[in-house]
Amino acid sequence: MEARIKEIFESIQGEGPVVGYKQLFIRFCGCNLDCDYCDTDFDISGSALYDPKDLFTKINSDFDLNKIHSISLTGGEPLLNADFINEFTNLLPKIKIYLETNATLSEQFMKIKDKIDIISADIKLPSATGKDTFELHDRFLQSCAGVYTFAKIVFDSNITESEIKRCCQLGQKYGIELILQPKMDENSISVDNCFCEEILDKFLNLYQNVRLIPQVHKFLNVR
Ligand code: SF4
Repeated sequence: MEARIKEIFESIQGEGPVVGYKQLFIRFCGCNLDCDYCDTDFDISGSALYDPKDLFTKINSDFDLNKIHSISLTGGEPLLNADFINEFTNLLPKIKIYLETNATLSEQFMKIKDKIDIISADIKLPSATGKDTFELHDRFLQSCAGVYTFAKIVFDSNITESEIKRCCQLGQKYGIELILQPKMDENSISVDNCFCEEILDKFLNLYQNVRLIPQVHKFLNVR
């Protein structure tokens, strides 16, 4: 069994509640969505095929796992490689596994649920992605029960009242923290500070477990 991996690198987590921790990022190629705002390079150019043992050998020889808070499985959509992740994580010593997912593939997730310590689950807004994936997110979040999960919501000036309401309903239903993340245009935030505060307040009027955290790695100028 093999997976196509775009890149493997150490960096500082720049999003959500574990911001600032050093992570080893494993970026898988390919995604099942095609969001309008996607700026992630996950195509196959420059990628390599690994089997789980090769990947385990590589990260042990190239990185000092003692300095790493957790291994971040990212993409693209890492859950497209759930069987591979299952085998790979079986080989690892005790280290936290952080899953960064678009939160649409609940059946794939169930194959590796017991291997995951932290889930960063996107709730995609139709106004930002061009697709309505709320039902898939609902099913996915249901499958996360028992694993520490937060939801990341990337928004821009097009966010609607109905989207805010639906996000808060999901937050409430599953008792998870919502992390609002303003969309970036290159290295600057696409909306101004007043708009950010206004949106945060609109969420807080409906649900109190909400924070606004921009992409800190862009300000640090790290990957
Ligand atoms: S889910 Fe993430 S990686 Fe996939 S297209 Fe959307 S933004 Fe890009």
